Amino acid sequence: MFELNRYTLHKLLNIARRRVRWLFYPPQMMGPAPRMFPGALRIDEKEEEAAVAAVREVMRSKRLFRFFGVSANPFDTSKVRQFEREFAAYMGVEHALAVNSGTSALVCALVGLGVGPEDEVIVPAYTWFSTASAVLTVGAVPIIAEVDESLTLDPQDVRRKISPYTKAIIPVHMRGASARMDRLMALAKAKNLQLLEDAAQAAGASFQGRAVGSIGHAGIYSFHISKIMTAGEGGMLATHDATIYRRAAMYHDSAVCPHMGIPINEWLPGVNLRMSELHAAVALVQLHRLDAIVRDMRERKTKLKEMVRDELTKKGVTLRTIHDPDGDASIALIFFLPEKSRVKQVAAALEDENIPASRLYQDMAYLPHDHIDLHAYPTWTPILSKHTWSTRGGPWRWHPREIDYEETLCPTTMDLLRRAIHIDISPELTATQVEQMAAGIVQVVSKHI
Ligand SMILES: *Cc1c(COP(=O)(O)O)cnc(C)c1O
Repeated sequence: MFELNRYTLHKLLNIARRRVRWLFYPPQMMGPAPRMFPGALRIDEKEEEAAVAAVREVMRSKRLFRFFGVSANPFDTSKVRQFEREFAAYMGVEHALAVNSGTSALVCALVGLGVGPEDEVIVPAYTWFSTASAVLTVGAVPIIAEVDESLTLDPQDVRRKISPYTKAIIPVHMRGASARMDRLMALAKAKNLQLLEDAAQAAGASFQGRAVGSIGHAGIYSFHISKIMTAGEGGMLATHDATIYRRAAMYHDSAVCPHMGIPINEWLPGVNLRMSELHAAVALVQLHRLDAIVRDMRERKTKLKEMVRDELTKKGVTLRTIHDPDGDASIALIFFLPEKSRVKQVAAALEDENIPASRLYQDMAYLPHDHIDLHAYPTWTPILSKHTWSTRGGPWRWHPREIDYEETLCPTTMDLLRRAIHIDISPELTATQVEQMAAGIVQVVSKHI
């Protein structure tokens, strides 16, 4: 909710200051920078027509529910099922289960993998809060591990954090780029752990030729408005394993056991996290745009990188490590300054050039509560303070060993986040804007570093 506090006022004043500044010093990047909603911004008249037609089809068939409808035709097919089939084929997996959010997909995947009380799940120190909170939801304890210069899970720290209670690890393909999947899969195999890929921010990315989310025992995606492909909301679980899929399916629908014809002796209790038919109709149309969205972001990022690389190197600024550049979905250019003390100034100077730049971490102490960004573990207050729904305590209460979360738990991650500058790469940027963006980055870096 919008609230006029000191922080918002400060932001508004900054916008006004920039407008005045631009009268005298026009910014390097001209025109309004496209906002970072790749899938949503792509919705054009053609997609709108196709989505409306698909929704109309659902309405006319009267098959408004995933498992049945009221039409006389028993052969009407489910849109959700169709979306799942096409999504599974696109990602190269055997099974896909559509749900109402990426977070629901995480919970279903953990249930599918058999994670529960007395288990530990290793999650990265830099990810959306959901990755860690989903672990609590199934009664297990999240263990927070460092990310490396790729801003994804550091296999070495994962190795250090494995305990006799570790059941699974969740690498997160942050900001469009894959985690080090070869090393992580080898580690999971050696230690007999389940590997769940969180590809919520990386639909369309790949690692060594395989779609992210299709490499581990299970993978999840999100179709939230802020993600690469979107239907406003929604999520998907992908897996090659029929048992994981079946268990996840049983959990995502309180009556799926009879719906899917599962033998009574195998029934497990579920809740309702289904995707609706109307929603799947819209999401399926957007899936067909994913290739082009990612292609356009890649093209822009490749050009931008080429144009700024020399200047960054000269100044000791390092680009984020990308484990597989050909597979990068390319939603962002991230670089680390040599000193954290310059980050605020550099981000502001880039914004003065109308470049969509931001910092990856701001100390919570200086932010009003409605502006806290839940991507870095120090902001995961319910976990750090072990505060969950029961006043008698969450999964730590029954966990067989004591777990402590210090704010100083992952110093490498915090050092990286405090030195990071993040620049959005919208697929809608024009070729001229990409050039202007590069010129702006080079100018700011040469002046301020
Ligand atoms: C967005 C996101 C999720 C959760 O997806 P929702 O659809 O918002 O529930 C999980 N993990 C990561 C890394 C995300 O970015």
